[in-house]
Amino acid sequence: MRVDVVGASGTFPVPGRPASGYLITQGETRVWCDAGPGTFMGLPVDSDMVDAVVVSHQHPDHCADLFAAFHAWHYRPEPRNGVPLYAPEAVWERISEFLEKGPGSELYDLFDFNPVWTGDEITIGELEVRFTEMDHSVPTVGSRWEANNRTMFFTGDTGPDGDWRELARDVDVMLCEASYQGAPEDKAYSHHLTASEAGEIAREVGAGRLVLTHIPPYYDVAKSVHEAELAFDRPVTLATPGAHFDV
Ligand SMILES: [Zn+2]
Repeated sequence: MRVDVVGASGTFPVPGRPASGYLITQGETRVWCDAGPGTFMGLPVDSDMVDAVVVSHQHPDHCADLFAAFHAWHYRPEPRNGVPLYAPEAVWERISEFLEKGPGSELYDLFDFNPVWTGDEITIGELEVRFTEMDHSVPTVGSRWEANNRTMFFTGDTGPDGDWRELARDVDVMLCEASYQGAPEDKAYSHHLTASEAGEIAREVGAGRLVLTHIPPYYDVAKSVHEAELAFDRPVTLATPGAHFDV
């Protein structure tokens, strides 16, 4: 399984650093996971080669480029149709309300929407994906990706609470948000993780490797990696736009 980091900037994009978005590839299967602003333009392949879209939650830094995709895939001489979109139900409600497109509209032609939540398992080509509810302020899913007995867990946005760690157990790679630095008790918002919490949780679930993502542009990323490494007790990788890692 190959993961291209399209964007990993936390909360908002800056030039050269789109917000949350990845292209996950296994064989001929390509899935765009999280559609943060800047990621549609930054896909490393022609967007028509994307077989399906998975979105963790409704916050704009994870879904705003669904609008870019809608315009690019629909408003052209030969529109795409039936692109599978997997996300919590609330994502579809928000997107269709914003665009004022109901059943029977071009939005419904373009996307084949499938709500996902805790316990759901789907197959997209050569990839198996399982979902669980995360600790965030709106309905958010974490996802466990599997192919050829290799596994990755992606947190989306989350705090440390809830049962989601069970689905991350023993993964080869944990792609984990790290929105804060410093002590967990100093967090301004409980539904995100510090870099040290990311490291602690990755160690607790037995992740083979930790890749940090969702670090806001105003932080020194080296500090986040350092704090995560102290907690994980092993080297930590940073999700960098334009780079990829193999699972
Ligand atoms: Zn976010």
